Amino acid sequence: MNKPRPHSSRRLVAVSNRTSFGSPGAGGLAVALSDTLAETGGLWIGWSGKIFDVPRRRVNLTEEGGVSFALIDMSKADYEGFYLGYANSVLWPVMHNRLDLAVFDSEYFAAYVAINQRFAQAIANQTTPDDIIWVQDYHFFLLAKQLKEQNCPRQTGFFLHIPFPAPEVFRSIPDHRLLGEGLCAYDVVGLQSPHDCKNFSRYMQEELGAEQVSEERYRIGDHTLTLRLCPIGIDAEGFSQSATSDTAENAAQKLAKFLGDRHLIIGVDRMDYSKGLPQRFEGMATLFDKYPILHGTISFTQIAPPSRSVVEEYAQLRQQLDELSGRINGDYGDLDWIPIRYLARGYERDELAGLYRLARVGLVTPLQDGMNLVAKEYIAAQDPEDPGVLVLSQFAGAAEQMKEALIINPHDRDAVADAVLTALNMPLAERKRRWRALYDGICRQDITWWRGHFLAAFDSDPAGI
Ligand code: ADP
Repeated sequence: MNKPRPHSSRRLVAVSNRTSFGSPGAGGLAVALSDTLAETGGLWIGWSGKIFDVPRRRVNLTEEGGVSFALIDMSKADYEGFYLGYANSVLWPVMHNRLDLAVFDSEYFAAYVAINQRFAQAIANQTTPDDIIWVQDYHFFLLAKQLKEQNCPRQTGFFLHIPFPAPEVFRSIPDHRLLGEGLCAYDVVGLQSPHDCKNFSRYMQEELGAEQVSEERYRIGDHTLTLRLCPIGIDAEGFSQSATSDTAENAAQKLAKFLGDRHLIIGVDRMDYSKGLPQRFEGMATLFDKYPILHGTISFTQIAPPSRSVVEEYAQLRQQLDELSGRINGDYGDLDWIPIRYLARGYERDELAGLYRLARVGLVTPLQDGMNLVAKEYIAAQDPEDPGVLVLSQFAGAAEQMKEALIINPHDRDAVADAVLTALNMPLAERKRRWRALYDGICRQDITWWRGHFLAAFDSDPAGI
């Protein structure tokens, strides 16, 4: 069999639910994909972001910033069944180990299959066998299989941004086999952490009879799949520069005025039940409880803009956080001290960078997270001469790479409290040593490395073409 042309000389076609259309330059992933798409004359296929009573059946072809887009509309029923239903109420909770929150409704799965089918059709129409199709995330497990069923030979890769859970958990999805077979039809599957790779490898072998033929390769029937460990990174150097921009310094000054000479402990997350926000607040309450000497000397600021607020669980989480922060401030606050500040809004990237840099402790304690980019952004934003300390959950994908952080179990309030105390008391020399190792790591395995590492799997994979 001929070796394929190197990936760099082939057209890249990205497929994801959201595209960067309308907000070019927003987010590291969007920029990393756009760059390669622009270099290879590529195409980005995704949802138009529009919901119609009767959606246009035609794909909308357009262009922005040197990148071509093929945008697909959805009906209200599509949006509810596919996006709010199957993606957000089945896959998101189960993949994050929250079976208790999953809503298994067969209509959701039907909508998921139908939307995947519509995207597969668009790929078939808009691409050629020489293109590399790179699918992003859990919205599209089925595309490679559907393309094969349409007799449409394509080289396909899939990157999962969220965790792959233990097979025992994944198996509780009524249609898990169809999802698993869908994943296994891709030529390359990229996952965030060694733990995710182990889980998926075990699932493939136990459930689908896959045979591991080399470190990264699995044979299932007559198809060979490359499973690549490919932790996503950020534009570490770019983010580091953002942290000293005017916008960053203005934001930091504004908060510094409020802080006075208190140390800032910062949390920045989308408001999502996977982020462990109530547990984090409880951890801070434990800190105030155990160490009264800290009263008045620190301030914990949590930034958490509401996300997907239409879903019931998010509304409940919002209420829970409002109550918890009120109670903690009531219990521990004083006339001149507010222990917890909770800001339910978003900030610009440069503003966030400035706030991270001001913070002596970055508190990143998700209960389950594919990677967690906030952990990497916090490190990138630090002042090398006076860096802060990262306290990081063992259940974030980032923990597998960021070993010099203070790694904790987010369910253990005492461990969270004690790690924050250790961070606050850490001597400058140790802070610098840990930060340097972490910063070098996120620069080495940044977003450009991630993209190259994933796509290089196509150069070494002549099978499955
Ligand atoms: P997830 O993808 O699950 O939300 P990540 O930590 O991997 O978690 O990525 C979150 C991204 O969203 C980061 O780039 C972070 O800077 C951004 N973000 C989180 N909270 C805010 C906020 N309050 N304002 C602006 N951006 C935010």
